[in-house]
Amino acid sequence: MATEVMLQFVDTAQAYPAKRAAELRAEDFHEIAHRYALPDGEEQAGRCSQCGVPYCSVHCPLQNHIPDWLRLTAEGRLREAYEISNATSTMPEICGRICPQDRLCEGNCVIEAAGHGAVTIGAVEKFITDTAWDNGWVEPLVPGRARGQSVGIIGAGPAGLSAAEYMRLLGYEVHVYDRHDRAGGLLTYGIPGFKLEKPVVMRRIERLAAGGIVFHQDFEVGRDASLDELRRRHDAVLIATGVYKPRAIDVAGTDRTGVVAALDYLTASNRKGFGDSVPDYDDGRLDAAGKNVVVIGGGDTAMDCVRTAIRQGAASVKCLYRRDRANMPGSQREVANAEEEGVEFVWLAAPASLDGSGEGAVDTVRATRMRLGAADSSGRRAPERDPGGDFTLAADLVIKALGFDPEDLPVLFGATGLGITRWGTVRTDVKTMMTNLDGVFAAGDIVRGASLVVWAIRDARDVSERMHAWLKVKAASGRQAA
Ligand code: FAD
Ligand code: SF4
Ligand code: SF4
Repeated sequence: MATEVMLQFVDTAQAYPAKRAAELRAEDFHEIAHRYALPDGEEQAGRCSQCGVPYCSVHCPLQNHIPDWLRLTAEGRLREAYEISNATSTMPEICGRICPQDRLCEGNCVIEAAGHGAVTIGAVEKFITDTAWDNGWVEPLVPGRARGQSVGIIGAGPAGLSAAEYMRLLGYEVHVYDRHDRAGGLLTYGIPGFKLEKPVVMRRIERLAAGGIVFHQDFEVGRDASLDELRRRHDAVLIATGVYKPRAIDVAGTDRTGVVAALDYLTASNRKGFGDSVPDYDDGRLDAAGKNVVVIGGGDTAMDCVRTAIRQGAASVKCLYRRDRANMPGSQREVANAEEEGVEFVWLAAPASLDGSGEGAVDTVRATRMRLGAADSSGRRAPERDPGGDFTLAADLVIKALGFDPEDLPVLFGATGLGITRWGTVRTDVKTMMTNLDGVFAAGDIVRGASLVVWAIRDARDVSERMHAWLKVKAASGRQAA
């Protein structure tokens, strides 16, 4: 037993990999911290107390075997650590980088609760999987014995990609359809490089393509094929299209030049990172350089926008959020990173109008002070207007980052029979994960609403099991009928 390398949380202080200086990282789109050097990663893993009931794993959506791979890491058995971490996740190095660990595994680590600071689980996960890639331990995707059945997956985000991997391993022919020119969904075009460098995503996609998964990029279901056509082409179909309808701000002036949607802004920035020509960026419309930027919202998307604007060389960047710091949905770590980089948060404030001269471009945000009232049905204290007064902020670029709702899929897909919930998400049976259309399954944000990458991967794991069970019955009944 390895007790002598474990339980080191009293003698070894918690240490995340060092972040680059804020002034330096604000100048590029590289990740802000590199991974551990070898002895540091092993030493940090050795802080784990090997709990009998590991709350870290309980609160990891993938139920990763965290204490096991921490122990193997501390013992220097990195390849085995990687194999165990890889067994429950299709993208451990991506989760290690972008999961909000403070709300998931690390936030529930017992030594955090004991006041010693959590084991740095995410950073260790990134360390072991990046080491595996460097050393060639990441095996190619080898498809299972061909079953003679095919699956069509709509959406190449983490849910679609993970399901594609699981179904290919089981021996299905897998086709992934995505309306973007590159696969990856929000991993590619939403989340900025300073949180997740793009080669990390691209190498995963290349591995899937090399394993025989067929990608149909620039293929929009609803435009290039209807859902029914895909149902005829494949034995089963998975809808994993994410949620993309931006929530509106109900104030005057949102149609002014200089008021833009968060995802348009982030996508343009990510495309520039790939070296693409992006007319709306190249003409300055989606470029924050030299501008006073106001981002409206307090979630992950807003955090990514403010930090992107800093890197583009904005003159000032302010984030306007109607609740306070403690009640914001975005990760506290991201707020701290943003503050270090020069973002100013204006808490308890909501826009009242987006003003400019005549019908011209926006130049000012008029804002209202807010205060927190009684808790609403979700238990969060609802913001209400504080008669304390209005104020104004200079703004040449206003970015709306209030979150996303599902698009109208039945209309978009030409499938009016597809069942949806009152929130517009696709309705699935809790046990089978199938929609009301035979052989059509759904997973990821389009079922949950805007969520997290790690939940998309978990849903993909679950839905793959259900699709496989359903397809086996279909194949057996086909044989009987023959
Ligand atoms: P998506 O990643 O949205 O992928 C859906 C795919 O479907 C897209 O590629 C889209 O092009 C395609 N598609 C849609 N409609 C069609 C159609 N009609 N035909 C063909 N293809 C279609 N989560 C975290 O865990 N950590 C973070 O730090 C984090 N940061 C985020 C930052 C931003 C800016 C945003 C917007 C989200 C962030 N999230 C984060 C959330 C996370 O990205 C999502 O929960 C996750 O990507 C959902 O995965 P998905 O596969 O369901 O959908
Ligand atoms: Fe933590 Fe996310 Fe990794 Fe689970 S997948 S161990 S929640 S970082
Ligand atoms: Fe280790 Fe913390 Fe998980 Fe316990 S909760 S097994 S100490 S990482």
